[in-house]
Amino acid sequence: MILVTGGAGFIGANFVRDWLGRFDEAIINLDILTYAGNPENLSTLAEDERYIFIKGDIGNFSLVTDLLRQYRPRAVINFAAESHVDRSIHGPEDFIQTNIVGTFRLLEAVRSHWNSLDGKEKRDFRFLHVSTDEVYGSLARDEPAFNEAHGYEPNSPYSASKAASDHLVRAYHHTYGLPVLTTNCSNNYGPYQFPEKLIPLIIVNALASQPLPVYGDGQQIRDWLYVKDHCNAICRVLEGGLPGQTYNIGGWNEKPNIDIVHTICKLLDALRPAGDGSYSARSYSDLIKFVADRPGHDRRYAIDASKIERELGWKPTETFETGILKTVRWYLDNPAWVANVRSGAYRTWVEKNYSERTAL
Ligand code: NAD
Repeated sequence: MILVTGGAGFIGANFVRDWLGRFDEAIINLDILTYAGNPENLSTLAEDERYIFIKGDIGNFSLVTDLLRQYRPRAVINFAAESHVDRSIHGPEDFIQTNIVGTFRLLEAVRSHWNSLDGKEKRDFRFLHVSTDEVYGSLARDEPAFNEAHGYEPNSPYSASKAASDHLVRAYHHTYGLPVLTTNCSNNYGPYQFPEKLIPLIIVNALASQPLPVYGDGQQIRDWLYVKDHCNAICRVLEGGLPGQTYNIGGWNEKPNIDIVHTICKLLDALRPAGDGSYSARSYSDLIKFVADRPGHDRRYAIDASKIERELGWKPTETFETGILKTVRWYLDNPAWVANVRSGAYRTWVEKNYSERTAL
């Protein structure tokens, strides 16, 4: 059995679904269900006895301790975080609480549990911390991609809070010997992503005939990875990674934001042509609207993923072209999910169905 945190969010939900699709091993999902945690992402698992959902905070030391004692997972994978840069600019507090204080308390609970183990169970235990390439800061156009030796130069409250959590994870290995693994991944895209991030925002707004906001000149470059490739990489690191090591994960797909937006518009033009009742202009790209840039917006991120490829034999299976086509199709094929997320209907459902379980 493994325990994941934040498994109702975008990457966590893809991970849980993929895991149970591939392995028999059970999975516990500890998630506090913020606005970004959507149980509908996992509703098809409701009857699956290998799946256990616990609503709760990674910062709740006694809850996490009880869970670890009761279920004795062989690994903890920490996806839980506040993850949206814009929100961190407008209100950093939650980012400090969950990403730094929450990770610290989670580490404390895991450390105390790990100390109580012995023999093979102790040797095999792993704590895997899922992090971002944004901790490395911004690159000039001609600079080489980030490798694992690159210094940390975070620029937003989000990336600074993730950098702090990475440092804590590292320190728990060096100081206490906790068998930790850290992954730093580039921008993910794919099914179940909340439409505040670029790719789902553009798809969902286009389908609703609303403006497609692009920050500044749209020339900010990001590396993009299809979420299922990220999930595969995490499995590889969990099984083969060396405790104390960090692994960069990326798709070798550097693209300016504006190119991403045009690609999505072209796909939508082909798959849902204007005039079918949704949008009456010539092309969805007519909806593009340049807006004031995000303060301190990083110009370029690029990931050098050669370490995980060389040492763990991982490679992305999707190119950007195949991954983005799957993604656009998924949003077209799941109008009810999109409508619920846009209307906030799932929040009402969460409030009705869940209250925090503090005792087991
Ligand atoms: P997300 O915002 O979609 O999901 C985060 C999940 O964490 C939600 O389900 C939320 O309810 C849960 N959560 C938040 N605070 C919590 C708390 N205190 N206790 C328990 N659960 C809590 O995020 P995501 O995009 O799926 O990202 C997952 C992880 O991957 C994050 O750590 C993020 O920093 C990292 N990451 C994301 C990307 C990306 O492109 N999305 C890229 C690299 C790394």
